[in-house]
Amino acid sequence: MKHLITFLGTGQGPMVIGKQIRASGGIVVNAYDHQIHIDPGPSSLAMAKKYYINPRATSVILVSHSHLNHCNDVNTVIDAMTFGGLDKKGILISNNSLVNGSENKPPYLTKFHKNCLERFIVLKPNQKAAVDNVEIHTTFAKHSVECMGFKLVTPEYAISYLSDTTYSAEIGKQHLGSDILILNVVNPDNSKSKYNLNTEDAIRIISEVQPRLSVITHFSEQMLNQDPLMQARSINRATKRQVVAAKDGLTLNPRTYSSKKRQQKLRYY
Ligand SMILES: [Zn+2]
Repeated sequence: MKHLITFLGTGQGPMVIGKQIRASGGIVVNAYDHQIHIDPGPSSLAMAKKYYINPRATSVILVSHSHLNHCNDVNTVIDAMTFGGLDKKGILISNNSLVNGSENKPPYLTKFHKNCLERFIVLKPNQKAAVDNVEIHTTFAKHSVECMGFKLVTPEYAISYLSDTTYSAEIGKQHLGSDILILNVVNPDNSKSKYNLNTEDAIRIISEVQPRLSVITHFSEQMLNQDPLMQARSINRATKRQVVAAKDGLTLNPRTYSSKKRQQKLRYY
C-alpha cells in the first residue's frame, strides 16, 4: 500500500501559471489503495508524467472551486483516468458551480466527462463522504467564489487542504486533529489580499491547529519574490512547528507524520 503526497504544482495567479514559473497540476494523495487528485489545474497530466503518477490509477478527484488554476484540467484527468470513457470509473467530489455551473458561468465539467465517471458527488462545506478507508470531510473556505477545503481522515493520519481562503477563526477549528496541514499561502507577510492567506494568517492558523507538519504552497509572483523558504522559516520561528515550503514535485510520506502511529508505538514501549 502506497502512502504518498505529491505536489504537481505550487503556483498561483496568471503571472506565475501563464509562464509555468511554478506548475499548477494540483496535489495527488496516495492513501489506502486510492489515488486522490486534488485541484487538477493546467499542466496536470504533464506534471503527473514527470513525477511518475499514473493518471489511470486515479480513483477520486476532488475540486475545491471553479477557478481555472484549480479545475481547468478536471475533464482531462477524467479522460485519462477512464480511457475517454471506455472504462467508466472514479468518483468526483466538488461543489455545485463546478458540476452544474453558476449564474454567470457554465460548469467546467462537461456532460460527456460527467458520464465517464462511476459517480459524482456534489457537496457543500461541512459534509462528509467516504471511499473505503478514507473519509473526506468538506470544510468551509472564505473565498471570492463558492469554495471548500478538504480534510482526508484515514485510520493512521489526517491531511487537511484548506484551499483558497482568507483567515477567519472558523477556518482553523475545522482542521483540529489534522497531522498535515496544506495551506495556500498566496501572499507574503508584507502584503494582504481580500480572498487569500498571507504568511501572518498562516501563523495564526498553524498556532491554532498545531499540526505535526505544515506545507505552504500556491505561491503568487510576490510570494516567490519574497522566497517561500524564508517565509516558511519565519512561520516556523513564530509557531515552533515544522513547516515546509512546497516545490513542484515535492513528495511526502504522510505516515511519517501520523500522531496515531506514534501513540500506538508508545504503548508498546
Ligand atoms: Zn481561487
